[in-house]
Amino acid sequence: MTDDLCSRDAYLTTCDATVTEVTDEGVVLDRTVFYARGGGQPGDTGTLRWDGGEAHVADTYRSRESGKLVHGLSDDSAAPAPGTAVTAEIDWDRRHTIMRTHTALHSLSGIVYTDYGAKVTGGNMEAGGLARMDFELDAISQEFGREVEDKLNISLAEDHPVHVSFLPRAQALADRDLIRTKANLIPESVDPIRVIDIEGIDRQADGGTHVRSTAEVGRVRVVKTESKGKANKRMRIELVDP
Ligand SMILES: [Zn+2]
Repeated sequence: MTDDLCSRDAYLTTCDATVTEVTDEGVVLDRTVFYARGGGQPGDTGTLRWDGGEAHVADTYRSRESGKLVHGLSDDSAAPAPGTAVTAEIDWDRRHTIMRTHTALHSLSGIVYTDYGAKVTGGNMEAGGLARMDFELDAISQEFGREVEDKLNISLAEDHPVHVSFLPRAQALADRDLIRTKANLIPESVDPIRVIDIEGIDRQADGGTHVRSTAEVGRVRVVKTESKGKANKRMRIELVDP
């Protein structure tokens, strides 16, 4: 198992590691700062460097076959041999924008739930500060989008701290907030469950990377509201300053 450093510290940009395996899919390391795509968050890109070579990581993901965390290389990169000591470094600007976007999305879901009682039905992020989130709402309008945008920006500017914690599974499943966000659907093998708490705004089980406090997100714009069916309405957001 790769030691997944960013699950504990999202601000690590680089680490030393050893290549444990090279497969058709890419390079497996004993430890890494790269985030494997999941939970609507894109996988990291970056570079592996070693004595005499380097390779560009075009995407990071979990292998569907083995479940291993794989650094997928760009077509023009050759993989380092198993046993090679490497320095792994993520494209930090890209990742930091994604972290800000992810924290914005959780804040949005907390506000829509608290003020309008609507749960999230889905969500996704892109690199570059764009994201969408779907809600169990019967109707949505541009006015609603503007109202939510104002509330979201006020909340973000209040600079709420963001906490990462690991809760024993039994304790997580007894928690109302976490049940709301469907922590009970997390595979039974996952214990403890990782929790992201945006103090006073939103608390949910989540594997992604987030900023330390909401002021770091900056301002957010609601760019589109649209219907995706009955009780399923979508909001598209973007960071004003990605
Ligand atoms: Zn999330």
